[in-house]
Amino acid sequence: MSVENVLDIIKQNNIEWVDFRFVDLSGRAHHISLPASEVEAETFVNGVAFDGSSIPGFRGIEESDMVMMPDPESVYIDPFTAHATLIVMCNIHTPDGERYERDPRGIAQKAEQFMQTTGVGTTAFFAPESEFFIFDDVRYENSMNSSSFYVDSEEASWNTNRKEDGGNLGFKVRTKGGYVPVAPVDTQQDIRSEMCRLMTEAGLRIERHHHEVATAGQAEINFRFDTLTKTADNLMKYKYIIHNTARQYGKVATFMPKPLFGDNGSGMHVHQSIFNGDTPLFYEKGGYANLSEMALHYIGGILHHAPALIALTNPSTNSFKRLVPGYEAPVNLVFSKGNRSAAVRIPVAAVTPKGCRIEFRTPDSTANPYLSFAAMLMAGLDGIKRKIDPVALGYGPFDKNIYELSDADKREIRSVPGTLDEALNALEADYEFLTEGDVFTKEFIENYIDLKRGEAKSVAIRIHPQEYSLYFDC
Ligand code: GLN
Ligand code: MG
Ligand code: MG
Ligand code: MG
Repeated sequence: MSVENVLDIIKQNNIEWVDFRFVDLSGRAHHISLPASEVEAETFVNGVAFDGSSIPGFRGIEESDMVMMPDPESVYIDPFTAHATLIVMCNIHTPDGERYERDPRGIAQKAEQFMQTTGVGTTAFFAPESEFFIFDDVRYENSMNSSSFYVDSEEASWNTNRKEDGGNLGFKVRTKGGYVPVAPVDTQQDIRSEMCRLMTEAGLRIERHHHEVATAGQAEINFRFDTLTKTADNLMKYKYIIHNTARQYGKVATFMPKPLFGDNGSGMHVHQSIFNGDTPLFYEKGGYANLSEMALHYIGGILHHAPALIALTNPSTNSFKRLVPGYEAPVNLVFSKGNRSAAVRIPVAAVTPKGCRIEFRTPDSTANPYLSFAAMLMAGLDGIKRKIDPVALGYGPFDKNIYELSDADKREIRSVPGTLDEALNALEADYEFLTEGDVFTKEFIENYIDLKRGEAKSVAIRIHPQEYSLYFDC
């Protein structure tokens, strides 16, 4: 879309405000609105100034002037404002017109350009499955109010009404119905459909929506794959529409990976493939799960770098409360064509050569989409460059139930890091794959690690409810 097209959209839709947005290191969007009458072709050349010093992890107060450079490709009409508003995503530049090296969107674009310079392929496609909870459901409040919010037993009995220890004596619809239950267990069909309607109007192509496995209120909506930066923009749009539709319904949506102890968390499985023009490069008939050698090496890169990569794909202390056995979240650094406890799964049902892809199941939606997609691509490209063979390195394929393997075999299997600090240590020790082609800079990584260590510490120094259970009566 050209700048001219954008100016036409502003006129044709009687747009009153143009909302310029950029994304910080944590993946949150920030915005400044200009009257549409002030926006002209020049604005797309000169950009819009903002104060970078107030954004965590960006510049110091002594060098605070930054510029948002709007990307005309990214515009859509805000579905939530009373005054017609056009949203435009921006890259961040310094006042001298250089690209700002900590701008996540800039890093995503650099990763795409880097791939082209390697000659591996022309295009990398990404598709995230970003799960979330919609809370404020009255039934959820009942379970929140019950004393068992921090459930002690490993097997939380969500199938009974937890207020009544003797089972469902209240003749109530149960709060958990397994995977994809229909109404009345699923009370959120309409809110998900409304989210999808608004997403479609805003330019996303919706593939499906459904209730997820966890207790009443866990949901997932899938939209169509696209190239790396476009998919990251799409995920920002997705989350914005989900948060604000929930708000309109008097509810609240969260992408926190593990909001409820004792039940499934929310992941963000990320499907990935590489094409050269129209030719899919991950497909080769007859190989394991019809994967090409290039796809296997890409998987090798992801699994080999996974401990470090996870510092960017699972960048919160809460991320590691999801990555535990028993809740369909992967803990094993292996690949497999069926096994959902594997970090990398290869979907085989209803897959065409063009649809042939790998699914990295570890990430969650606390990841900054621009940084995490860029980091995954860099890990995969490093695997291709160094011909990292995941089979030779013992990463699988493991198609058996991992819990049924012999102890010796189980010992061979590597696990994801157990905490954010462990993942940050791994990143500190292994980041060269990210700095190839200056996609991420060393300075960026160091700053990122500092920022995240601060978050981990802020959690570690606080008193946890479980500590009362363990120690209060000592
Ligand atoms: N919620 C699971 C996770 O944390 C995934 C469940 C699913 O999509 N089947 O990854
Ligand atoms: Mg799914
Ligand atoms: Mg799911
Ligand atoms: Mg999946």
